[in-house]
Amino acid sequence: MSTSTTTYETIVIGGSFAGLSAALQIARSCRKVLVIDSSENRNRFAQHAHGFLGHDGKSPSDILTESKAQLRRYSDCTIVENVRVVSIQNLTAEKGASPSFNVVTSDEKTLHTRRIILATGLKDNLPPVEGLQESWGKSVFHCPYCHGYEFRGKPLGLLYTTPIQSHQARLLPDLTKDIILFTGGAINGTESVFPAVQLSTEETALWEKLGIKLEHTPVSKFVRDSNAESELSYVELSDGRKIERRGVLLLPPLTLSTPNLVADLGCDVTPSPFGVDLIKVDPATQVTSIPGVYAAGDSVRPMNVAVAVADGSIAGIMCHQSLVAEDIKKIQ
Ligand SMILES: Cc1cc2nc3c(=O)[nH]c(=O)nc-3n(C[C@H](O)[C@H](O)[C@H](O)COP(=O)(O)OP(=O)(O)OC[C@H]3O[C@@H](n4cnc5c(N)ncnc54)[C@H](O)[C@@H]3O)c2cc1C
Repeated sequence: MSTSTTTYETIVIGGSFAGLSAALQIARSCRKVLVIDSSENRNRFAQHAHGFLGHDGKSPSDILTESKAQLRRYSDCTIVENVRVVSIQNLTAEKGASPSFNVVTSDEKTLHTRRIILATGLKDNLPPVEGLQESWGKSVFHCPYCHGYEFRGKPLGLLYTTPIQSHQARLLPDLTKDIILFTGGAINGTESVFPAVQLSTEETALWEKLGIKLEHTPVSKFVRDSNAESELSYVELSDGRKIERRGVLLLPPLTLSTPNLVADLGCDVTPSPFGVDLIKVDPATQVTSIPGVYAAGDSVRPMNVAVAVADGSIAGIMCHQSLVAEDIKKIQ
């Protein structure tokens, strides 16, 4: 294991939408910033990213490649790809002392930094339903704002497994009149891999009023359309019935991508309606409960690319200002 003699002003962990946006502000302030990225942005399964002003319809990887090229023009910014941060040690001497950290990477380097920005995102833990992995991000997706428009006017389904999807289902009649809620969960062989939900009488009445149909038999397979790669042909049920659907909304269980790093640092987390505990920050500064550690993006506020970029920008600006404040304090 090698220990770097370079001290970075800031190490950004995660070089996707939030992390690169943070790094841009720091590099533009002529402070040394290192971005370490394991190159697994959450939307890498989607062919097109939507709803990000100025980039609507571009592939996620094209947006990130262009962003990285822009950042590399700043001499104070270094980006390393396909490298993972495996642990962090907080070296800060005592409460109120200057923050100081060692970051250990998967290529066995130990790097020192004054600030850390966690921009490591979330992990979608797809259950083993036949056809789901291949369809994920294309015809089976989690967010109506990201991919719903492409299915307007077409047969759409929603695999209803968590309460937050009741909210999602209410949004769908704006896109199409042919909607089925699958409430019976999903199976892999005979094993249940997504739970069924019990609807209240009020909810059942609401779906009827909205013209949304209900299907209570578990889903067993997502079958893609051989003529249209980005659409389904049908959803197969455990009793063998084939239900024609072009797309299905589904919210898989979520976890933080790097719970180990959050634990290393001891950052506070907070429960969310998405079923995952998110990193707790002060929204005005994106600073976590640990001085010198900032966080931004899906691991704080899971929404979309635009929000990740916005929150990353705040993290970068506030991180830079904290470096300036610390340096001024030293000379006063
Ligand atoms: C299938 C799908 C499609 C989507 N489509 C859209 C869309 O069309 N429009 C839209 O606006 N939003 C979309 N989203 C949401 C969007 O992907 C996220 O909001 C956005 O990626 C969040 O950015 P982020 O930087 O916080 O996290 P991510 O983009 O997930 O990036 C996190 C980065 O951290 C890196 N990382 C993780 N752990 C480590 C570590 N230990 N060391 C180093 N690096 C690490 C990862 O490799 C990754 O590069 C989609 C999401 C999914 C799941």
